[in-house]
Amino acid sequence: MDEIRENLSKVHQEIISSCNKYGRSENDVSLLCVSKTKPEEKIIAAYNCGERHFGESYAVEASEKITHLKELGYRDIIWHFIGPIQKNKTRLIAEHFDMVESLDRAIVATRLNDQRPEGLPPLEVLIQVNISAEDQKSGCDISEIDSLIDTIQKCPKLKLRGFMGVGMDTPDFEIIDKEFSKLKSLFDEYSKKLEDFNILSIGMTHDLDIAVKNQTTEVRIGTAIFGAREYKTMTTDNQNIAFIGGGNMSTCIYESIIASGFNPQNITVSGPHLEKLEKFKTKGSVITTDNIDALKNADIVFLGVKPQILTSVLDEIAASGVALNHKLFVSMAAGYKLSSIEEKLNTKKIIRIMPNTPAKLGLGVIAVVYDTEVSENEKQLSEKMLAKMGTCIVGDEDNLNVIGAVAGCGPAFVYRFMEALIAEAVAHGLSADNARKIVEQTVLGSANMSIKNQDCTLASLREAVTSKGGTTYAGLCKMTEGNFEQVMKNTVQASLDRTYEFEKMF
Ligand SMILES: *Cc1c(COP(=O)(O)O)cnc(C)c1O
Repeated sequence: MDEIRENLSKVHQEIISSCNKYGRSENDVSLLCVSKTKPEEKIIAAYNCGERHFGESYAVEASEKITHLKELGYRDIIWHFIGPIQKNKTRLIAEHFDMVESLDRAIVATRLNDQRPEGLPPLEVLIQVNISAEDQKSGCDISEIDSLIDTIQKCPKLKLRGFMGVGMDTPDFEIIDKEFSKLKSLFDEYSKKLEDFNILSIGMTHDLDIAVKNQTTEVRIGTAIFGAREYKTMTTDNQNIAFIGGGNMSTCIYESIIASGFNPQNITVSGPHLEKLEKFKTKGSVITTDNIDALKNADIVFLGVKPQILTSVLDEIAASGVALNHKLFVSMAAGYKLSSIEEKLNTKKIIRIMPNTPAKLGLGVIAVVYDTEVSENEKQLSEKMLAKMGTCIVGDEDNLNVIGAVAGCGPAFVYRFMEALIAEAVAHGLSADNARKIVEQTVLGSANMSIKNQDCTLASLREAVTSKGGTTYAGLCKMTEGNFEQVMKNTVQASLDRTYEFEKMF
């Protein structure tokens, strides 16, 4: 932990030298140590160097750390929440934090106010202002600041202290300089009108100097103190999950995920029609019409839209400015290649999956293809998420197409076979009800005979019901005459050909 001491001393030195450079006093710039994803020992190490202000971005993870550190006696830490805020996390934030820097909309203000426990001092808040030159989704638009301030002023348990801004993630310091100076002018304008409005929080590890130049009063530094972020081992209760699209397949996967032990409260589902998403809300999940809102705080993003729509959804995600490199994307779009998604999102942390319809009953086949940057931990967790839908078959993209033709289209082929068998049973006098029951049970029983007798070939199972010159034999001869194998060969080939045509479209 000597390393943290050294790092802190370098960061303070940097602040001092920037202050000197721009004629400011180092006492006017405070340091917020951003400890998100970092273990408690590292926070304690920084605490022992005299730091008292710590910033966290993930409500659940942070609340656990805060509670535990308080139990250990670290009671004088000032905790700042700096991450995107999901509506269903406001209670945790209101209960555990001293300041919220990322307040960006009225509904969150109202909820934080309502949920701030009696007996605690008012929650200090900064409005996170969207200063990005890009069309970035986090932060309050400048045009909406006034109305957000109105709301905050009606909240007795909130106290507005200033603005926070995140500069664009770019090596081009001129762009960041423009963004920061824009926020600084706004800050000056409002600090004339508002009481105790005196905190300007801009500047992170890479743009600290430009922030000091633009009169920041607080820099939020993570990497330079604690090193690169350590993303947690994924478990069923620390992952935020987003579904883009709430249709049939999303519903099926959603149910499997919950059945595998994931917390519905950590899931957000987006879709164009809120009323169609009510069923997710009933289970405790967040619903929204805003895809980016759903995805911005997610660790795992299920792309549950049709292939025809996926291109525009990927464009929307890429243009949102949300950092994507730590997110795991799971696509269910048939025919949409990994390479096409990689190109749009500039990441290789992607999984393609293809469940067939019996997955709804837990009896599905789920074809799974991993891209190169999916970690072992992510693979294990994904298979756990999908396990309640049936059997996962991991392969490459070529396999995926074949599995698609056999397992994806397969149920329709099997229904067709069942329909034909039922029709003949009825033609020979059975009632439709009985015929259906008989055929269902025959298919189910045969599948189970196959499953339970892995040491026998299917041919030997077939031979066991076929005595030479007998009734089954006579029937099978007609299948041979009708060129059954050739029909199946053509059937699968036609489905595959169509898959390749689809692939060319995306
Ligand atoms: C993570 C984070 C930081 C710290 O970033 P570093 O580049 O690690 O210094 C600062 N502000 C916000 C809002 C963050 O999410």
